[in-house]
Amino acid sequence: MPKILRPLDVYKYLPQTNCGECGESSCMAFAAKLIERQVSVEKCTPLSEPKYGKKLKALLEVLRSPVKEVTIGIPPNAITIGGKDVMYRHELTWRHPTALMIDVHDEMEEEELIKRVKFVNDFSFIRIGRELKLDGIAVRCVSDDSKKFSTAVSTVLKHTQLPLVLCSYNPTVLEEALTIAGDKKPLIYAANKQNWKEMAELSSKYKCPLVVSAPGDLSLLKSLTVSIKKYYNLDDFVLDPGTFVDGGTILDTISMFSVLRYAAIEGEDSDVGYPLLGVPAAVWSLFDGNDDEKRLMESIVASSLMSRYADILILHSIDVWPILPVIVWRDCVYTDPRVPPSVKPGLYEIGKPNEMSPLLVTANFALTYYIVKDDVERNKIDAWLVVVDTEGTSVQSAVAGKKLTAENIYETMVSSGAMEKVQHKTVIIPGYAARLSGELEDLLKDWRVFVGPRDSADIKQFLEKIWKQEVFGEKQ
Ligand code: SF4
Repeated sequence: MPKILRPLDVYKYLPQTNCGECGESSCMAFAAKLIERQVSVEKCTPLSEPKYGKKLKALLEVLRSPVKEVTIGIPPNAITIGGKDVMYRHELTWRHPTALMIDVHDEMEEEELIKRVKFVNDFSFIRIGRELKLDGIAVRCVSDDSKKFSTAVSTVLKHTQLPLVLCSYNPTVLEEALTIAGDKKPLIYAANKQNWKEMAELSSKYKCPLVVSAPGDLSLLKSLTVSIKKYYNLDDFVLDPGTFVDGGTILDTISMFSVLRYAAIEGEDSDVGYPLLGVPAAVWSLFDGNDDEKRLMESIVASSLMSRYADILILHSIDVWPILPVIVWRDCVYTDPRVPPSVKPGLYEIGKPNEMSPLLVTANFALTYYIVKDDVERNKIDAWLVVVDTEGTSVQSAVAGKKLTAENIYETMVSSGAMEKVQHKTVIIPGYAARLSGELEDLLKDWRVFVGPRDSADIKQFLEKIWKQEVFGEKQ
């Protein structure tokens, strides 16, 4: 069964004194936030007292996700993967978005290698106000030469602070690279049937997480993990069941990812309760097609594996177009389906508004906010924008559901200081909120309420043809 905790399951391990040191009003409120992963256990400072030692241990066990959290890299750029509690995101939000790592290898010209690292550092895509970034670099050893590989790792380290995956099946090659990169806590790729003892020793010596790899053989994958756990007392694993991309075998890959995740969460099999790694970059060596077909295929494989539980992916393409659908899909998969995307309510400045600039009102649904903002900016209008808390719903729905009312527009105008910003004493509400205009005018007393266009794309025309004319007597 998926591990869905209730506040009482957690509350029983807290001190139950309601002391408030965690910043919450009660232990029960803290328990509810712990379940939602909005706070960490350390916030309850009394729990670190020796007398609560047993409770703390039990609490950490209860809170441990069926898929263990594994951290790669060091602060402030460390990434955490895994930490999944449920199979389906409508049950509980999936935490720790799939890490996207771009590969480089030690046979690349230095210029090419640096170009790829810089691409990863600089990649940025803004979507509904969120910046979407790539997460790190996977350095592959192609040469099987320790010196070449270490040189490539050094070059990468000189140009990025992002987390690394060091990839080789040769423990000697990896050991030399770890002497220069081990303190950055890279993910070691990979222990397999032949090298697992040496790789486990490296993971133990350098305290780095370890990928266990057994392409196409889930029994072997599990038994290798169990052996390393047992003989080396390690627990920071990432599992690689193989990424098969030629012909119809991608279905087998998806199926193996699903079986592992199902076993971890529904079957409570802690031996496979670790993050899963996929390598869509394998398309470049295994898939028969031209470069654009490979880019397209890599993008499809990455998106499919992300939909089916991949916690970290190694990609090869550094063109924006194949990365874009993957990174946007990640953003969709990892947003909380119970909470609409929203922006903070309050007063926003667009351009350089002054006391004669228009004062506009909108809802705090992120999509609405960014559409209005973009339309105003695109038309080079300096304006004040009052964003009302409509619980993340659009204007039309918010008016119908009474989440956008004359009262909360008035309250936001007062609390945000919007009314002191303009001299003309006029406010423009969205066309879909027309029915609120009379009531709002009553609340605002000597102010005038204008009903603007339904579509903010028409805002320029509205301001020039109606608002400016009526307020300032300006004819266009
Ligand atoms: S600090 Fe701990 S004991 Fe105090 S209220 Fe918070 S959860 Fe309860």
